[in-house]
Amino acid sequence: MTDSGLLAAGLAALAGLAAGRAWAKARRRDLFGRSAFRSSPHYTQGLHYLAAGETHRAMSELGKVARDEPEAFEILLVLGNLHRDTGQVERAMQIHQGLVERGDLSRAERAHALVCLGADQRAAGFIDRATRTFEDVLEMEPRNIHALAGLQNLHEEQRRWREAFEIQTRLGRLRKSDEGLVLGHIQAEIGREALAAGRTEEAEKAFRTALALDKRVFPAHLGLADIALASDPRRAASVLQEAMAVAPERAYLAFERLARAYSASGEPSRFVTLCESILTRDPRDWRARLALARHLRAGGRPDEAYGLLLRALNENPHVLLVHLEVWRTLRDLGVDDEPVARYVVACEESVFYRDPHICTRCRYRADDMLWRCPHCHQWNTFVEERLGPTAGVL
Ligand SMILES: [Zn+2]
Repeated sequence: MTDSGLLAAGLAALAGLAAGRAWAKARRRDLFGRSAFRSSPHYTQGLHYLAAGETHRAMSELGKVARDEPEAFEILLVLGNLHRDTGQVERAMQIHQGLVERGDLSRAERAHALVCLGADQRAAGFIDRATRTFEDVLEMEPRNIHALAGLQNLHEEQRRWREAFEIQTRLGRLRKSDEGLVLGHIQAEIGREALAAGRTEEAEKAFRTALALDKRVFPAHLGLADIALASDPRRAASVLQEAMAVAPERAYLAFERLARAYSASGEPSRFVTLCESILTRDPRDWRARLALARHLRAGGRPDEAYGLLLRALNENPHVLLVHLEVWRTLRDLGVDDEPVARYVVACEESVFYRDPHICTRCRYRADDMLWRCPHCHQWNTFVEERLGPTAGVL
């Protein structure tokens, strides 16, 4: 579960639990029972700060409520979550552990407190404890979506893909949502691991399952192409062409394999034709230009490659991939070899964001295409990062 999901769950606890099932009891106890906190001005002020996103002020106000009304379950629940969100994980665990140990909680309240404790334990890096905590909740409430989502995240982080697949399937049923894309990506991970371990049949099965779930699972196409490449390069090429047709915005991820597949099947010129047709459709596609330049340079035509690269540079001057290729091409063109070679090595060793990609959901940056965001845990959210030209700035 995301932190904001937990915060939302906490807010739901504030609004929902207090106003819903517990309402009749709360009315009876009124100012003397567990809902007495609601008459505190600090409570209203705390909610106001929460809604305004002023977390530290909200914590201060809600802390005062908790001091005056130590029985206030909902306040402590949210306060614990806020401590976790602000990095005070130890304190969050203390608060939620204290809640879990209380004897006056309903089953739903106890489950809720345990889910929050599980999230604290995960944030603190206690993976096994967090797993057990979420499993405890599911024993009490097998359909608890927050516990399932928490467990799902842990499985994904630990690369336990089969468990992740099972939990994600259950989540999809409970949410009544189409999880095909996520399930497909999980299958593709199963396939990638099997392939890396040399279990080709298992890998192929997983990639096919992935594509049956959702055709847009690009790494599954790439995996199938990798399997076919050695024995049947024509087949690999057709798999990659299909992938590019399904997800043209990801086409560049298939270029390198496609060039190899065409060469292996004795038709290297088909790659040139492909890049040229992409460039005719979209002259600004710097990746097709770069791929074609690489291909031409490898085929001993650095002068043609150089022209393409200068044009690619106009389209995306910020990306180091193009600059590196320019220098490699200059070297092939006979520009003084040694200093250029040193420059290329220095660039390759020093630059972190050589080919920046960014998560469209949380803006997390990475130096490559990632299928699952390590920050917001979403699948299929990365795109290449494009910076606009900075006119007038050198
Ligand atoms: Zn993200």
